[in-house]
Amino acid sequence: MDLFEYQARDLFEAHGVPVLAGIVAETPAEARAAAERIGGTVVVKAQVKTGGRGKAGGVKLAHSPEEAEAAAAAILGMDIKGHPVQRVMVAQGARIAEEYYFSVLLDRAERRYLAMCSVEGGMEIEQLAVERPDALAKVAVDPLVGIDAAKAAEIVAAAGFAPDVAADVAAAIQKLWGVYLAEDATLVEVNPLVRTEDGAIVALDGKVTLDDNAAFRHPGHAELADVAATDPLEARAKAAGLNYVKLDGEVGVIGNGAGLVMSTLDVVALAGEAFGGVKPANFLDIGGGASAEVMAAGLDIILSDPQVRAVFVNVFGGITACDAVATGIVHALEILGDHATKPLVVRLDGNNVLAGRRILIEAAHPLVTLADTMDGGAAAAAELAHLAAV
Ligand code: GDP
Ligand code: MN
Repeated sequence: MDLFEYQARDLFEAHGVPVLAGIVAETPAEARAAAERIGGTVVVKAQVKTGGRGKAGGVKLAHSPEEAEAAAAAILGMDIKGHPVQRVMVAQGARIAEEYYFSVLLDRAERRYLAMCSVEGGMEIEQLAVERPDALAKVAVDPLVGIDAAKAAEIVAAAGFAPDVAADVAAAIQKLWGVYLAEDATLVEVNPLVRTEDGAIVALDGKVTLDDNAAFRHPGHAELADVAATDPLEARAKAAGLNYVKLDGEVGVIGNGAGLVMSTLDVVALAGEAFGGVKPANFLDIGGGASAEVMAAGLDIILSDPQVRAVFVNVFGGITACDAVATGIVHALEILGDHATKPLVVRLDGNNVLAGRRILIEAAHPLVTLADTMDGGAAAAAELAHLAAV
């Protein structure tokens, strides 16, 4: 889960990283009140989960509460790279002397963490990495040791900080590592980390990604989720305990086992090329059980997707045999009743396949077509989706 800047700021503050005051606001009037509380010059910053807000006009200085209100009025409702601005953060203004960059992230390929640091912060780091790779220090971090004083000193030395700021930057880096470790993050990035004119080191813009796999250790993280932005079907699937990812196509896909579902997506996409380019509409793994309830919950979610025009159910019977899955499908269609309105292509194989097919043939549901093979089923579902679209 990616956090908004104001949430990252709050986490930084809780872990002793030097930050400036910041208050989130959803209306110009709230922004004005926030500016009054903070006092002096403030910065009004769009809260969207994308970079480059500065360039897009989403970061504005305001010298009075009135100016903060006007800045918020201009920024709220903006669209920054497809992200509508619903909140701003009113932050205490900084007098910036220098802008630096620091991040620590999970380096999956190397099975460790990677710290990146530069005395040339502020600009987009991807650009810096391409244009001036020597200016971006990359230092491997042993997960068992983390960023201790010695590692922080190594990072600061690799980045080439001037001696008068090196110690303070190293201290800030250790605090940022504290955030990474304590919150189970996979990314903590500060751009810019600044030196102010009076010599303080401050994290001015923070980006944090939390590891969802560790959510069980952090009950507090749930409230950081941006519920409004979560896809409503994904939210429903999560509540039902289903492994569902919404995609952009027209053929709903249900299967058992992540590997089978992944390959079903590929086969549907390939088959779809012959039928107007229809594509899979989702990933949905109903797991090993495939009971009627799970099948009904899965079908219900897929059929609620207005983009879906046909569904491909691709199940390989294992411990849960095909006859149980077929019974699950029949019961699911009973449970759904009139909600089931789109054609279903079902391909069963594996344990007890003949009994499973017989159950579906005998049920003779008007929406259900049986397929013998995975390729044949994918093609049939793609064709049905295509026919429904024209
Ligand atoms: P981003 O463009 O989305 O990464 O947003 P940032 O929060 O990094 O802000 C972009 C730029 O705005 C920074 O690199 C700074 O140059 C500038 N900026 C942000 N906050 C302040 C501030 O308090 N004072 C001044 N003078 N500039 C700021
Ligand atoms: Mn930034």
